[in-house]
Amino acid sequence: MMSSTTATDPLRCASSQLPAWRVLVIDDDPEVHDGIRDASAGLRLFDRPLELVHCTHGDNVRALLLGEADLAVVMMDLVSQHAGGGLALLDFMRHTAGLRKTRLVLRTEAPHCVPDLDTLLRYDISDYHSKTDLTPDRWGAIAARSVQGYQRLCAFEASRRSMEAIVCSSTALLEHTDLSAFATGVITQLAALLGVPGQALACVRDTTAGPSGTYRVQAATGRFAGLLDLPMAALPDATMLRLLHRALDTRGNALDNPVQPFAAPGVLPPPRCCGDNVFGDDRGLALYIGSPGDQDMVVFIELADPAIGPDRQLLDFFCVSFSTLLRNRGLLERLRRSAYSDPLVSLPNRAYFIEKVGECVQRGTEGMMLALVDIDDFSATNEMMGHRFGDRLLSAVAQRLAEVLPAGVMLARVGPDTFGILGPAHMVPPQQLPDCVRDPLTINDTPHKVSMTCGYVLLPQGARTGDDLVKDATIALKRAKRDHRGQQLQYAAHMGAEAKERAVLLSELRKAIENAELFLVYQPQVDLETGNVIGLEALLRWRTADGRLVPPDQFIPVAEHSSLILPLGQRALEMACQTLRELQMAGLAPARMAVNVSVVQLRDPGFFGMVCAALSANGLAGHHLELEITESVVVLPTQLLQSTLNALRAHGVTIAIDDFGTGYSSLSYLERLPLDRIKIDRTFVQQLDAPHGGRVAEMVVQLGRKLGLQVLAEGIENAAAWQALQAMGCHHGQGYHIAYPMEKTDLLRWLAQS
Ligand code: C2E
Ligand code: CA
Ligand code: CA
Repeated sequence: MMSSTTATDPLRCASSQLPAWRVLVIDDDPEVHDGIRDASAGLRLFDRPLELVHCTHGDNVRALLLGEADLAVVMMDLVSQHAGGGLALLDFMRHTAGLRKTRLVLRTEAPHCVPDLDTLLRYDISDYHSKTDLTPDRWGAIAARSVQGYQRLCAFEASRRSMEAIVCSSTALLEHTDLSAFATGVITQLAALLGVPGQALACVRDTTAGPSGTYRVQAATGRFAGLLDLPMAALPDATMLRLLHRALDTRGNALDNPVQPFAAPGVLPPPRCCGDNVFGDDRGLALYIGSPGDQDMVVFIELADPAIGPDRQLLDFFCVSFSTLLRNRGLLERLRRSAYSDPLVSLPNRAYFIEKVGECVQRGTEGMMLALVDIDDFSATNEMMGHRFGDRLLSAVAQRLAEVLPAGVMLARVGPDTFGILGPAHMVPPQQLPDCVRDPLTINDTPHKVSMTCGYVLLPQGARTGDDLVKDATIALKRAKRDHRGQQLQYAAHMGAEAKERAVLLSELRKAIENAELFLVYQPQVDLETGNVIGLEALLRWRTADGRLVPPDQFIPVAEHSSLILPLGQRALEMACQTLRELQMAGLAPARMAVNVSVVQLRDPGFFGMVCAALSANGLAGHHLELEITESVVVLPTQLLQSTLNALRAHGVTIAIDDFGTGYSSLSYLERLPLDRIKIDRTFVQQLDAPHGGRVAEMVVQLGRKLGLQVLAEGIENAAAWQALQAMGCHHGQGYHIAYPMEKTDLLRWLAQS
């Protein structure tokens, strides 16, 4: 037998929309079925009737159970002798059919035939009764208890799902960076939680004005969409406004004033208060999200059916979850801001710049330009004038750049003293960038002149990353720093290839230094009058593991391009001092050792100290050392250069200007520098045998004499050159005719013989 009856009063049933509680009775005893049917007639539990389904173990109970989703109670006899009945059926119901919320009542043979505790617990059996218990009164109580249990479990399950939904949606909402999107997310999630169509709006406080900032509609859905951007005070709906204010006022003072019942003005019923965050009446709910001292918002949502009251605890949980989220979002926002901005100059930083270049690449780079502008000799200024001055200088440059750049062009600080610029090329003529500091900057109320160099790249079409493009501009900038200081240089493809070659050479050079593949050779310098050796010039050599010699003209510029020249130059100086010491010990030492110094080394604030340390470590005095600098030192700030050279000379070290005449120094500059010697470049010496070829050399000799400097000619390859130079009045000389640069052992032999 299998039958179904709705045990209801037809009149009451018609008035109620709520579905009946489904109760399944499985019993082989017809009397039990009859008893329950009679006892259920007209019974209503929690405003809902019962719908009974009757079957015996002989029926296909398992198929029936599989089709049930909303079964409130199962009343089953445990005394059946039928195969598949009893405990096996309980197991099927709970585990295979998945009916976990359904309340199970067992019918036992007699009051004493009780299932053991383990069975009761394992199958979550609510109750057990004998046939005699099934009188109408007692059945009513059994059914009520079971239905109530089922109802509670259903409510619990629904809350759990809603909470899960809130937690999931919260995580998704954290992704929203802008507040309007976040607010829209909140009202969408709220509508989903309440199961109502989204007629809602959210008013968000303007935090820039602090706690007193006004609330404005930042998100609105459904028929409220037209209210977007309106100040909250201007909302036309009095009921809504009243609830929103109530939510705000109560929450804002929640700590001082515990929630008071609301005294409703006019005809409106008093709002129902749920915790501190939710206020409602029959039309809708107002929720407070956030915290008064931080970012906050109030949300209004219309309720379609006042009869379906929202679960207050869930709504509170919603408010608490989203308040935490809003706070975390604020923290994330602050983190993001600090991760993407440079606090010193209040500009976006390198990470942000690269990201924006990447976005620009995605959108299309037609007509766009990326420029890097670098302050020349910033570190020297920083060292000399102090870091506080340096900081002010950076701010002043940032400000000057911001002034000249039109709106729509991005400016960022991408390196310690480097600024990045991204914008349409026609809006930023590259020469304008170094030119913008033509007028001195004002720092500490005094004018300060700086020079800036710019490398730029016109963004190519095609997929490249922001990082790559910044690298290209960096290559152009480095080259401009080397060859076009104070000017701008556009990136060209060949620069990239050369940069790559240089990078390879640089990494090999690093290894070479570690593997001691670098060493010095020494070229004697003589008095042209007497032929006596007056000094040695130390020249670096790099012999690779396979015996190949890499010329210094190749690797020195690469080392200068990176900071590698600093340790390399230091090593050369130390080796040269050590050799001179050894020669002194052998009684073969000339008066001094000349060491070549790169402009990068001179710029290094630790240079003077390093020189003194190398001398004293080898027991040498300052006058044992000569430093050869080139005319390229003109790029250094005069003050820095003069103070370094003066300090060295005060220590006894002499200074020679190398390759004289090949650079771009002005004579007035030469006059101002504290120097001891001029070295005539070998190209002028090699021109000596050409008709009128000696003019430059002669002029340099005269100039040196006039300035009270000694003059040394390099590149003397024959006796004629020697004689010509000597005739001109040149004091000293070096060259292949006198001696080739030699390794230490050869040098010792050469010195011993001469
Ligand atoms: P430099 O300082 O002008 O060095 C003189 C160069 O002329 C050396 O070339 C030397 O070998 C070469 N030379 C000497 N006598 C003659 C000659 O009679 N005829 C000709 N044609 N050449 C002669 P090298 O050793 O190849 O050095 C090239 C450059 O590399 C140097 O030019 C210097 O600027 C740089 N350099 C070498 N060693 C160092 C170093 O330790 N530090 C720095 N910063 N630069 C170095
Ligand atoms: Ca030299
Ligand atoms: Ca030279």
